[in-house]
Amino acid sequence: MSVNQSTVLVVTYSEIALKGKNRPVFQRRLLNNMRRALAGEPVANMNHVESRYLVWLDDPERAEACAEKLEKVFGIRWISPAVAIPRLEDGSEMDEVALQAVTMAMRDVGMAHTFKVDTRRSDHDYGLTSPEISRIIGTAVGAAIQLPARMHHPDFTVHVLVLRERILVFTGKRPGAGGLPAGTGGRICCLLSGGIDSPVAAWMLMRRGIRPTFVHFFAGRSVKEADADKIVELARILAEWSPVPLTLYLVPVVPYEMRAMDHVRESYDMVMFRRFMFKTAHVVARRENCLALASGDSLGQVASQTLHNLAAIGPDLELPVMRPLIGLDKEEITARSQRIGAYEVSIQPYRDCCSIRSPRPVLDARADTLAEMSQAMDLPGAVSEALTQSAKLLVGPDGEIRRRELSGPAIPTD
Ligand code: ATP
Ligand code: MG
Repeated sequence: MSVNQSTVLVVTYSEIALKGKNRPVFQRRLLNNMRRALAGEPVANMNHVESRYLVWLDDPERAEACAEKLEKVFGIRWISPAVAIPRLEDGSEMDEVALQAVTMAMRDVGMAHTFKVDTRRSDHDYGLTSPEISRIIGTAVGAAIQLPARMHHPDFTVHVLVLRERILVFTGKRPGAGGLPAGTGGRICCLLSGGIDSPVAAWMLMRRGIRPTFVHFFAGRSVKEADADKIVELARILAEWSPVPLTLYLVPVVPYEMRAMDHVRESYDMVMFRRFMFKTAHVVARRENCLALASGDSLGQVASQTLHNLAAIGPDLELPVMRPLIGLDKEEITARSQRIGAYEVSIQPYRDCCSIRSPRPVLDARADTLAEMSQAMDLPGAVSEALTQSAKLLVGPDGEIRRRELSGPAIPTD
């Protein structure tokens, strides 16, 4: 590489472009999150230039690795490792642009049969129009790789982007994760099971800029008995998409079961248990400054997710309950789970406390029946005891960072 060019990642943002007056808040957050994602990488500088970010790298060898890290930063639409060529007073940089385009095309063309040069100008005062630039560069590239140009659906594209101070050349565009930058949307308390659905639900909310606080209910008697490795691993996978470590509560279900035994009809146990989970998560949400609860429910997928049951579970919850998967099919949810990287962990066997519940649950539970049973079994007592016996973990992308057993005076419930 000659001295007058350098390696840069071109990063374009997604929905932020639609924001109005508060756009700088989102941009600043995105820039910070990108910095955190690239900590330890040879980044010389990052700046916002003409509606995109440029990440300048000292070491071109790290370009692909850095681009891959940015794929897990929400708010990004495309990431392209590029070469930047400074513009010259006399406009003679086009030779250098052609040389660079040829070098990159020969390196990256692979098995393509057709190609195209796609030129965009952010500086519309540039001496050449976009089609003129495409023609000049296309002629040089075509001669080098010996392929015909094709305007529609080419196999391979060389991109040229004219900015005010430099021209960028790149051959690949990696899709970003989209959505809004982490930290722009507040916190949500997410019910995290060991299944496929709830990690996807949390991820979808994270993609809208929220920070999840996870609550998981386990079947063992004490936190020490909890078979929690799988849950911690799911939280860790989700933490890869977060600029900060995430909080996970592990809560025992035994305090519920002890009380439910004599007061909850078998057919109502599943729905009542769900009510216990939401009521407990509600207390956690208040403690952790969350503005909503979330679950991985998909309408009608299992008995506890009939509309009647969903409606009956928590009519008295003060916080809204988000259910981002409500209209998705299992295949759609599974595809997303694979994309996030959670699927292989989600399908591993686990002692799920839901699977030991009644085989014949009610499909149209009544809220007033649930309210009566809640009183009879002392549901607030179960919530409070479960929380005193729970543990609070902090999980980062490298695994568990900190664990604290929460024993002591009961945490007040609503
Ligand atoms: P799958 O259907 O693949 O098992 P799932 O466990 O997420 O996925 P359900 O068992 O149907 O689905 O439960 C519905 C929702 O209830 C979950 O998405 C999750 O939000 C919540 N939930 C269920 N079990 C637990 C649990 N043990 N701890 C915390 N939340 C749970
Ligand atoms: Mg489940």
